[in-house]
Amino acid sequence: MEPEHLKMYIGGEWVDAESGDTFEVKSPATGEVLAILPNGGPEDVKRAVDAANDAKERVASIPIPERAKLMYRLVEIIKQNSEKFARECTLEQGKPIRESIGELADVEPNILQQAEDMIRLEGSIHVPIVKHEMRLLSVWEPLGVIGVITPWNFPWLLPTECVPQAFMAGNAVVFKPAETTPISGVRLVQCMEKAGFPKGSVNLVLGESGPIVGGSLVEHPNVDGICFTGESATAEEITRRAGMKRLVLECGGLGPLIVLDDASLEKAVSDTVYGCTYNAGQVCVANERILVHERIHDKFLELTSREVKRKKLGNPLIEETDVGPLNNEPLAEKVERHIEDAREKGAKVVVGGRRASGFQTMLYFEPTVVDNVTPDMLFNKEETFGPVAPIISFSDLDEAIEIANSSKYGLSAAVHTNDITKAFRFAERIKAGQVIINDTVCLWEYQHPWGGMKKSGLGRMGGKYSLQAMMEQKTILINVGRSPGAP
Ligand code: NDP
Repeated sequence: MEPEHLKMYIGGEWVDAESGDTFEVKSPATGEVLAILPNGGPEDVKRAVDAANDAKERVASIPIPERAKLMYRLVEIIKQNSEKFARECTLEQGKPIRESIGELADVEPNILQQAEDMIRLEGSIHVPIVKHEMRLLSVWEPLGVIGVITPWNFPWLLPTECVPQAFMAGNAVVFKPAETTPISGVRLVQCMEKAGFPKGSVNLVLGESGPIVGGSLVEHPNVDGICFTGESATAEEITRRAGMKRLVLECGGLGPLIVLDDASLEKAVSDTVYGCTYNAGQVCVANERILVHERIHDKFLELTSREVKRKKLGNPLIEETDVGPLNNEPLAEKVERHIEDAREKGAKVVVGGRRASGFQTMLYFEPTVVDNVTPDMLFNKEETFGPVAPIISFSDLDEAIEIANSSKYGLSAAVHTNDITKAFRFAERIKAGQVIINDTVCLWEYQHPWGGMKKSGLGRMGGKYSLQAMMEQKTILINVGRSPGAP
């Protein structure tokens, strides 16, 4: 298939990079070049921010129900094309087609619910304490221009958690998708154009250097807020470069899944295997560490190994495939490094443990189980982001909580137990933005405050929280005069 030539979208026009440079996107599944895109630089970011800046007041003045109508239209257009978009998502990201179809299906509730949240977003009225004749009204206002920067692991889900919502909240947007999955980003913006989003309200910049394109966006003085999803190290760099812009940062995780000795074993095993292999483990809420009580360790290991061996690694376009390739080469090398580090420190690879041969690329990684993992290993320190279940034994709940909390991350954690007291003790002591009882770490919803503690993030997204993250509060004080007879 001939690669498609795609463009950036600035001020309502599809354009090339000012430099004329381009870059290619290759499929991790097949190795073929899927698209050729403009390799943007700071000058293109400037053009996009200028366009957004020109549009921001017009966007803010669109009545909220009119903004919501654009969202409804957008969802319909995405739905009409979802089969094609799912296939493209699988080709550029590598995930099994079933998962891409699921990801596209998530777009609708996500966008529609937040459109409704915006319609119902409440301000507040306060009782005056100092001057009794004042009335105090706090209202929400858009920030102005929002830069949205997204990663490659969910090329549809993550942009559709931020880009339409930034507009719904009354902002103009400059969107920068990840270098390895920009095609889905282009499709989203094409749909927004087709739905009738006004010129300049949504702009798309592309490029193969995150620090240059993303960094220029973060630093631009006319960008008021950054909505970023990606690695914690990148988020820290953004906080250094952004100055006093409003930031919402959704970063990495090292999800511990803890199995106590009274847990329902089969459920714990299936939740473990799901959360380690879904999207080949390339999920911020993957089960990155499996902490198992020593009394049930052997049985758990046997059942988990059996389930992992059943997972079908293969061409992600085939319906029966459970695990597709990893998205990119540096990631595949990191997964190998973590396994090697564990091996050197005494862990045992029980299933898998290496890249699979016989596929069109060398990014297919065997679903893996590693036993005898200890807290000093990389598995317990850095995100692995591969289809691996690293198993750590513990002897009591306190020890499990200590290991779980020993990492720098705090995004999502899970405990399996039939003892509600222990479950709550765990939930209250664990440092994570989300704690799950009797299910996988790999879960998300759309309406609760979503985000991380420690290096897993800053701020909260989801439902009205996404909208509020891209707005700010202003209080209007009115002197209505003293009531007759007041002291
Ligand atoms: P990165 O941090 O490498 O990249 C994320 C985005 O930031 C990309 O668009 C990238 O561009 C851009 N970028 C890179 N460097 C800079 C910079 N200096 N300034 C501004 N932007 C920059 O993350 P990955 O793409 O590797 O994504 C995986 C990470 O995302 C994992 O840590 C995962 O846990 C996390 N994540 C968190 C979620 C959450 O909700 N908490 C959800 C999903 C993922 P380019 O691609 O061109 O390099």
